[in-house]
Amino acid sequence: MKAAVVEQLGQPLVLRDVPVPVPGPGQILVKTEACGVCHTDLHAARGDWPVKPAPPFIPGHEGIGLVVAMGTGVTEVQLGDRVGVPWLYSACGHCEHCLAAWETVCAEAQFGGYTKNGGFAEYILADPRYVAHIPAGLSAVQAAPIICAGVTSYKGIKETGARPGQWLAVSGIGGLGHLAIEYAVAMGLRVAAVDIDEGKLEHARALGAEVTINARQGDPVAALREATGGGAHGVLITAPSIDAFQQGVAMTRKRGTCVLVGLPPGDFPTPLFDVVANCVTIRGSFVGTRQDMAEALAFAATGKVKAGIELQPLSAINEIFSRLEHGKVASRVVLDFSGN
Ligand code: NAD
Ligand code: ZN
Ligand code: ZN
Repeated sequence: MKAAVVEQLGQPLVLRDVPVPVPGPGQILVKTEACGVCHTDLHAARGDWPVKPAPPFIPGHEGIGLVVAMGTGVTEVQLGDRVGVPWLYSACGHCEHCLAAWETVCAEAQFGGYTKNGGFAEYILADPRYVAHIPAGLSAVQAAPIICAGVTSYKGIKETGARPGQWLAVSGIGGLGHLAIEYAVAMGLRVAAVDIDEGKLEHARALGAEVTINARQGDPVAALREATGGGAHGVLITAPSIDAFQQGVAMTRKRGTCVLVGLPPGDFPTPLFDVVANCVTIRGSFVGTRQDMAEALAFAATGKVKAGIELQPLSAINEIFSRLEHGKVASRVVLDFSGN
């Protein structure tokens, strides 16, 4: 099968012919129809994070396809089902976090396209207990961005605790952020969008953001606080930029919650007095559970959320990575395997 392989961290991916994996007991084989390209794939291929993936590996955690083979003992899916192979590839199922339905923080979790081979390939091996079940009527290319960008944004919004009628500030209007605006609007929130690119902000307005702020112009924190009458009740930071984190905390209203989902390498200083005296909550959020996934997909299946996608072939992956790195992808690139 054709696959895009990271052979060395920080180097371009290599397009290779590799053997089609064979599902063992409890595993399924998925024939890829589409796979979104997430900024996380770029962090993975560069080795940006403290726990690095071990090359050679195949990135991609927005892979959607049909179940074409299964090992013994599989009961969760049937041949021909359309499934997604997400970032949360598998978890132990019995630790304190799994038992509390917080499988995303299981210490034994495996990650698609990181610790396990992912969707930048014509076939993907998957754990049927953790695949996303794609609702009928949702195409593979439309489902792809939902299984990472969508579920992460949706879960992150829920974690802000913002209620209908309140303000949500979304910082970073790329793959995650454009979907965050759509989810927020569908959930009855008022949206303020922050980015450094005028094209992204224009798109944000088209999706329903009432306020747009260019973080490279003037004082974005003051502009947001003024436009929202004292700061946003919820702030969701998707931007892969440290500056956005400092600004996002300062954009949070008194007693509001700032949810961090962007993952640029590094740290950011937290202004203790302001956070303490304003009773601000700062909270991390990591993709979403299987229940969050089902909810996020349901929004897409009913048409309330629709990802902005640009289709590309697998062979374009290095050019797509370079555009993503420079903020030159409008919303989400989805690799289309229908020609393969
Ligand atoms: P993307 O490249 O599609 O979008 C990033 C957006 O941020 C772009 O629109 C860019 O213009 C904007 N941006 C850059 N600098 C900014 C700044 N200073 N202020 C405001 N906006 C700025 O990326 P993506 O696929 O949406 O991923 C975003 C980040 O989220 C990545 O770091 C990725 O690894 C991370 N991520 C986290 C999770 C999670 O579970 N927490 C899941 C998926 C992705
Ligand atoms: Zn992702
Ligand atoms: Zn566990």
